[in-house]
Amino acid sequence: MRVSVALFTADLRVHDNPVLVAALKDAERVVPLFVVDTGIRRTGFAVPNRAAFLADSLADLDAALRARGGRLVVRVGDVVEETCRVATETGAAVVHLAGGVSRYAMRREERLRAELAGDRRELHVHEASLTVVPPGALTPAGKDKDHFAVFTPYFRRWEGFSVRGVLPAPDTVRLPDVRTAGLPGPQSLASGPTSPGLPTGGESEARRRLRSWLAGPLCAYDDQHDDLAADATSRLSPYLHFGCLSPTELLHRAREQHNPGAYAFVRQLAWRDFHHQVLAARPDAADHDYRPRHDRWRRGALETEAWKEGRTGYPVVDAALRQLGHEGWMPGRARMLAASFLTKTLYVDWRVGARHFLDLLVDGDIADNQLNWQWVAGTGTDTRPNRVLNPLVQARRFDPHGEYVRRWLPELRGLDAATIHRLPDLDDATRADLDYPARIVDLAEGAARFREGRGIGRETS
Ligand code: FAD
Repeated sequence: MRVSVALFTADLRVHDNPVLVAALKDAERVVPLFVVDTGIRRTGFAVPNRAAFLADSLADLDAALRARGGRLVVRVGDVVEETCRVATETGAAVVHLAGGVSRYAMRREERLRAELAGDRRELHVHEASLTVVPPGALTPAGKDKDHFAVFTPYFRRWEGFSVRGVLPAPDTVRLPDVRTAGLPGPQSLASGPTSPGLPTGGESEARRRLRSWLAGPLCAYDDQHDDLAADATSRLSPYLHFGCLSPTELLHRAREQHNPGAYAFVRQLAWRDFHHQVLAARPDAADHDYRPRHDRWRRGALETEAWKEGRTGYPVVDAALRQLGHEGWMPGRARMLAASFLTKTLYVDWRVGARHFLDLLVDGDIADNQLNWQWVAGTGTDTRPNRVLNPLVQARRFDPHGEYVRRWLPELRGLDAATIHRLPDLDDATRADLDYPARIVDLAEGAARFREGRGIGRETS
């Protein structure tokens, strides 16, 4: 009897899952395996918000497999050792795995390949699992160019890529005789409190959200995605990060809609692939400047604390950081202006902000988080690296009625939009009745720090 292992990592789903489909095609019996990887815990990447979402997702995956006659097999320990142990115990000839792009995922893959080969077993890596276009599949013309460093030309090629079709969920999954640990609870994955407004994880919830997103709000995405109060983005990012939803299926389903909202949305999926292909080619960009600007970052410990707590005195920045604490999530526009404020107004190293985001974001992802932070800081792939997002201009443009601010800063609920927008410039006497901090930095002073630290002229938007 032929046995294979489908090792789940960031693809916690039964629909459109190349790893599971290939494992089933390969063998009569399949071990759907998840290893609670003690190595990840040591990296600091396992945090309560993502642990809670992961625990939900594993329970949901187990239920989906049980509905097909199988179940999820769980082991705890080093992912390579445990996978090899399962392969030996069940006599599996092949292990199937989705190709990852972080240094951690790449090392895991290398180690697994070597260990399995030593035992005359094979590793099959499926590259078109976690992104629409496999990292490395598109490269610019020219010698030695292994990835795209600029989004627009990448997107032009990405749009023309022949994307694989959507794979059906299997009807039946039959396991060999194999022992399993119990499903992990969130506290066994990472201890500590979670954000109160965390979404529920899992493929069932992902598919429910997908259906309602496609049925209505997607249509208005182009016009509304930057409107902070409208909350008009898909909120699918955590489901994509954990692979509860396949980006390929999402792409096909969005393209079927044929409206400007869908086009704009698909473009965002390309950004996700773009960052993944950069990280795959430059794994060190997770913590090293992709394009060094010779910054002399400030430490600014007190200011950084105020930023993390949402007490900078700039209401829209504070609202963004408070939403992050409450939901473990924030819309892209809020992420951009919060990140710009830290790196280009306080002039604090992007790694400090990226770490804080990773501590809380339920969709926290090495490729998307680190490379977006670098993009905003100007050390990444932005072609205008020195642009500064002015929080007053951004607030008037993307929260004109002050609704987003009032939602997240209860202490400002009684104020009208005009007052909210002027708050950072009001003197102490005028602000006396408010339980809200004075601004921690003057924008002109912040801009001067940035120019001086980086040694440049100025662009603003
Ligand atoms: P939508 O607007 O509905 O977009 C749909 C999907 O497209 C998203 O779910 C996401 O998968 C992808 N997407 C959209 N914008 C981007 C982008 N700029 N880069 C890459 N993919 C994108 N995204 C993460 O998934 N994880 C992170 O850790 C993360 N950190 C970020 C940090 C900073 C400083 C910034 C500026 C952006 C970050 N993003 C991150 C990208 C983006 O902000 C989020 O993906 C998006 O806000 C999630 O909300 P949504 O699902 O409603 O997005």
